[in-house]
Amino acid sequence: MKITILGSGTSTGVPMVGCHCPVCSSTDPRDKRTRASILVESEGMRILVDTSTDLRRQALREQVPQIDAVFFTHTHADHINGIDDLRGFHFIHRRVIPCYGSPETIRQVIAGFSYIFKDFQTEGYSPLMEAVPVDGPFELFGCRIRPIPLLHGPFESTGYRFNDAAYLTDCSSIPPDSLTRLQGLELLIIDGLRYSPHPNHFNIEGALKVVQQLQPRRALLTHLTHEVHHCDEKRLPEGTEFAYDGLTIELT
Ligand SMILES: [Zn+2]
Ligand SMILES: [Zn+2]
Ligand SMILES: [Zn+2]
Repeated sequence: MKITILGSGTSTGVPMVGCHCPVCSSTDPRDKRTRASILVESEGMRILVDTSTDLRRQALREQVPQIDAVFFTHTHADHINGIDDLRGFHFIHRRVIPCYGSPETIRQVIAGFSYIFKDFQTEGYSPLMEAVPVDGPFELFGCRIRPIPLLHGPFESTGYRFNDAAYLTDCSSIPPDSLTRLQGLELLIIDGLRYSPHPNHFNIEGALKVVQQLQPRRALLTHLTHEVHHCDEKRLPEGTEFAYDGLTIELT
């Protein structure tokens, strides 16, 4: 299994429009952050987690040849508004892509983008996606997958565990039942946002507490703002790093 960080940035991306701070002006490519998303490859199949606002750019950058399934974490704009960029893959492969998410997330995505969903599409548009609501573990492309319910301030979001790797973007707290599903991780990718606190996201201190609790072999902090300079990574505890766009992790 291989995971690629397609986007490691918060909703504004980094650099942020109009900002000339040291991180937005940084020449380190790891300080250039598109909106949060990952690609999981297993048995030659590709799972995209979220259709970020930067999906087209990310797919071109990483030369993604096709998408076999999409998982949604929640319906904030930075995580779903690139959904139309799946159209290019459809024109080539002519396949309807299954899209997974919690029943409520799927309901909201269909409500916002009914014209691309099988059984809901408007005349004149071919269906791009087929909805698959999930609320328990399942297997896909040889990968054991567990949805992980998370709290994102007053909202709910869904993390996903793929074998022994977990992707928990956009969260501010992890319910006890979900913590029990996150034992024995090789890799934890978790929302770390920035140094200052935020009501709807773990900040770096909060994410590090979760890392301490779960003790994954390797941890990556993602969904980062322009408060975070990649070169400050050396201040993180051993085994914890800042995610950056294009980073790939091979897992057995
Ligand atoms: Zn977000
Ligand atoms: Zn800035
Ligand atoms: Zn969000």
